[in-house]
Amino acid sequence: MNIAMIGTGYVGLVSGVCFAEFGFQVTCVDKDPEIVERLSREETTIFEPGLELLLSRNVRESRLTFTTDIAEAVGSADVVFIAVGTPSRRGGGEADLSYIMAAADEIAAVMQPGQVIAIKSTVEVGTNEVVRDRIRAARPGVPFSMVSNPEFLREGSAIEDFMRPDRVVIGAEDDHGREIMRRVYRPLFLRDTPMVSTTLANAELIKYASNAFLAVKVSFINQIADLCEKVGGDVQDVARAMGMDGRIGAKFLHPGPGFGGSCFPKDTRALASIGRKRGARQLLVEAAENLNEARKLDMAERILTQLRAEGGDTVAILGVAFKPNTDDIREAPSLTIIGKLIEAGVKVKAHDPEAMEAARKLLPGVDWCRSAWDAVSGAHVTVLVTEWNAYRALDLRRVSALMAGTTMIDMRNVYSPAEIAGTGLSYHSIGRASIQ
Ligand code: NAD
Repeated sequence: MNIAMIGTGYVGLVSGVCFAEFGFQVTCVDKDPEIVERLSREETTIFEPGLELLLSRNVRESRLTFTTDIAEAVGSADVVFIAVGTPSRRGGGEADLSYIMAAADEIAAVMQPGQVIAIKSTVEVGTNEVVRDRIRAARPGVPFSMVSNPEFLREGSAIEDFMRPDRVVIGAEDDHGREIMRRVYRPLFLRDTPMVSTTLANAELIKYASNAFLAVKVSFINQIADLCEKVGGDVQDVARAMGMDGRIGAKFLHPGPGFGGSCFPKDTRALASIGRKRGARQLLVEAAENLNEARKLDMAERILTQLRAEGGDTVAILGVAFKPNTDDIREAPSLTIIGKLIEAGVKVKAHDPEAMEAARKLLPGVDWCRSAWDAVSGAHVTVLVTEWNAYRALDLRRVSALMAGTTMIDMRNVYSPAEIAGTGLSYHSIGRASIQ
């Protein structure tokens, strides 16, 4: 089985590497020659736990190659996956499908009869049919199977998620497409991974509905956290007991500074936009989107309030990636929060174990520090924004001693009141009482 993967970002690279690990012959294509060059010499282009090892093993064992030449990859492939980006279109909520259409045109020009073309990228409902018709028009008479195969991996645990997904979703129109996809995912079915076989449109909807539901869940618990703060509740207790209910589930019930990343914000916007366009407004999703924007601003406001109370001008930010174990800062809450602080004339010192290189380009004016200790030194307020392991067991007495002020804002509820006692810090978290 030969696989071509078009687009070698977070999804394409992880999928390509994992398929090669299953024993398939994989050729990954990217239009960015630097990405191809680095990956070819076994240098990872993204930070993802476990990726480096699998990349070098499969390159060395000649199951995985990288190229900028789409013809080279598609020529001998049984399946051609499209894993290019689908960012939000500027000024509107809908997804920008131009990368998908460009990839489809490039594939059409070089494809062979009988190939399966599978879209892994997250795309608006109807896109697979549009792509199918576009390829058909470009290569009339050349048979191929169109498949929608949305991806559910999470950055930070992408390899594990790809190897052990909760389900694989295959939207197909014919038996050939379904059969080839069954063979591609056969290594997972040996572990009894359920496969949902459905239509192209359902597969597209499943992906958007899943992400939007999780985003709504996050916004919901953030609102409950706000209420806890007003009435003297503790959102940790509330969320934990809610999560014990099998109908609710414990995941995505963690309050924080708002959801971010390359998927939730753009996918909720896209689903809301599809709903508006098609006359079925997604009011819950629209509310989650609006709440999330407001939440990030509210977080910046909380920091400014504490800074004024301290009478200081310096804030330490611990963590800028949108979540731990990734270097991805796309739509990270930290970007809005830090942007607002800089706008207000605050001196920002920041640290992140993996994301500083990417963040530096987007956040000029920040003093990037070599360690958490450097960042908190001289700060009036320390803010824990991303719950990296490295920030989970800080010596809080040392934090307090290094700071110029005494305020810590823990936006991920990493620490417990017992751990704060005796440190000299005044502690503010999310959905819990503050400790002065
Ligand atoms: P990305 O931006 O990291 O990577 C896309 C890559 O495609 C880039 O390297 C780009 O150079 C390349 N590319 C664009 N057009 C190309 C072309 N015509 N030929 C060859 N290469 C081309 O994107 P990503 O985060 O991997 O996301 C890809 C898709 O998967 C999106 O639709 C996203 O919504 C979806 N998705 C992402 C995640 C995630 O966690 N990142 C999870 C599930 C689904």
